[in-house]
Amino acid sequence: MHHPKKERTLVIVKPDGVQRTLIGEILKRFERTGFKLVGIKMTVPTEAHIEKHYTLNPEWSRITGEKTIASYVKKGEKPWSEDPLEVTKVVLNNLKKYMTSGPIVVMVWEGAHAVDVVRKITGGTEPRTSDVGTIRGDFVLDSYTMADTDKRAVRNLIHSSGNIKEAEMEIEHWFNKKELVDYRLIQDSILYDVNMDGILE
Ligand code: ADP
Ligand code: MG
Repeated sequence: MHHPKKERTLVIVKPDGVQRTLIGEILKRFERTGFKLVGIKMTVPTEAHIEKHYTLNPEWSRITGEKTIASYVKKGEKPWSEDPLEVTKVVLNNLKKYMTSGPIVVMVWEGAHAVDVVRKITGGTEPRTSDVGTIRGDFVLDSYTMADTDKRAVRNLIHSSGNIKEAEMEIEHWFNKKELVDYRLIQDSILYDVNMDGILE
C-alpha cells in the first residue's frame, strides 16, 4: 500500500466551470489545502470518452440511479422511473451533451487522503443541497428538479473521483504516465516530515 500522502485523485473543471471563469478559483481551493498538482490539460472531449469515463466503474449506473431516486423520495416527489438503471440511462445521455459542450480542464491532485478530502471540498452532487463552503455549494445554483424540467444534466462545475479505485481508473483514462510529474514541493516537508526539524538555522 502507498503512504496516504501519495494518494491521487482526478478533478475535471466541467464546461460550465470554464465558462464561469472559475478555473483559478477551483484550483486555488485544492492548492491552499496542501494538495500538489501533478498533471493538467485542457481539452474538448468526445462523447465516447465521456461515456467511458462514467462507466469505468460498473457500479456507477446503479449507484447514480439509486442516489437520484433517493433524492426524489426525500423531497416527496416521484422519479421518472423506479429502476435505477433506467434513471441513469437518461442521466448519462444528458451528461454526454453537457460534458462535450466546450473545453474542460482535467487535473490530477496528489496528497494525503486526496480522494476523500477533494470530494469534501467538491460538495454533494446537487448544488441545491451541497454544503456551504464547498465548490458546488458556493459557486453555482442548480437542482435535480431544474435539470429534469429542462431535460439536461445537473450543472455542478466540477467532477472529482468518488473512491480510490475510481480515481485510479479515471487517471489512467485521461493521462498517460509521461504526462504526470513526480516532484517535491517545499511545503511537503511541513505537511509530511515526521520531525519538523529543517526549519531553524
Ligand atoms: P458526482 O459528480 O457527485 O460524483 P454522479 O457520479 O452520481 O455524481 O453523477 C455524475 C454527474 O452526472 C453529476 O455530477 C451531475 O452532473 C450529473 N447527474 C447525476 N445525477 C443526475 C440527475 N439525476 N439528473 C441530472 N444530472 C445528474
Ligand atoms: Mg461520481
